[in-house]
Amino acid sequence: MGRTIKEKALAKINLYLNVLGKREDQYHELEMVMAPLKLHDTVEIRKRQDGKIIVETDVAVTERMEDNIAYRAASEFLKKRGIDSGVEIRITKRIPIAAGLAGGSADCGATLRGLNRLFKIGYSREELADFGEQFGADVPYAVHQKICIARGKGEKLLFLDRRLRLPTLLITPDVQVSTRKVYETLSMERVEPVKITKMTNAIYNCNFDLLVRELHNALEPFTLECHEEVRPLKERLEQMDLEGYSMSGSGPTYFILSKDTGRLKKLQKELEVYGTTTLTRIV
Ligand code: ATP
Repeated sequence: MGRTIKEKALAKINLYLNVLGKREDQYHELEMVMAPLKLHDTVEIRKRQDGKIIVETDVAVTERMEDNIAYRAASEFLKKRGIDSGVEIRITKRIPIAAGLAGGSADCGATLRGLNRLFKIGYSREELADFGEQFGADVPYAVHQKICIARGKGEKLLFLDRRLRLPTLLITPDVQVSTRKVYETLSMERVEPVKITKMTNAIYNCNFDLLVRELHNALEPFTLECHEEVRPLKERLEQMDLEGYSMSGSGPTYFILSKDTGRLKKLQKELEVYGTTTLTRIV
């Protein structure tokens, strides 16, 4: 039995998400701040003698194993390197699925890092990130999983080089958000012009008060329009006199930031009725 490589696939939240415009290729030009969380899936990889790629997850993620993003990443990676060994990939899922927390991208990034180690390829993080882009716009970020500004479709990264270590409560309503539908509903005339500058200053200076004031997600009104079932949670959060909260990605997950873990624990109890709650922190 060969060695097993273990990688953490960290969830992310968006402290800021703005849509700058629609592109010719039908994607939207985005400007986001991505922040990695302690909450993670675990990806374990080892070689198989029979040349097969096998992906096992502890909870069902996709109907067909071949549709798991980790499978696609492994298959392309081995092909690119001309490696004929098989691999076994075990994913322990803790990140809620299709929740705006980029769990799939995280697993993909972890798979690429893991394969790079297992086969001693020696690609740099940048090389892995470039290779990862074909699997999704958030994958280059997920290869690095460091706090950064992401532009373009999400693949152009500017690292902010800070550790915020902020306690974070996630609430994920049991609603299947269609990211595609949210972007189809989005109209640029109704996107609020909120600049990123104050948020990046807040992060550089680890200024919590400014950071919570500058939380922003341009997709939120459109997600709420498409999925009315998320609105009761939003309305409850509005009434709660919170220091800072926002939606992550296209939702439905909301996150609450506070320096006071005790307060978040209390809030977790109160908000359980709205969905799955997870107490974690920004790394
Ligand atoms: P994003 O914020 O990048 O849009 P998300 O957090 O909303 O992502 P994911 O959890 O990444 O959503 O999953 C989106 C879809 O991708 C799922 O519905 C699932 O069918 C598919 N998928 C493929 N592989 C994985 C994986 N390893 N983990 C989770 N989902 C996966």
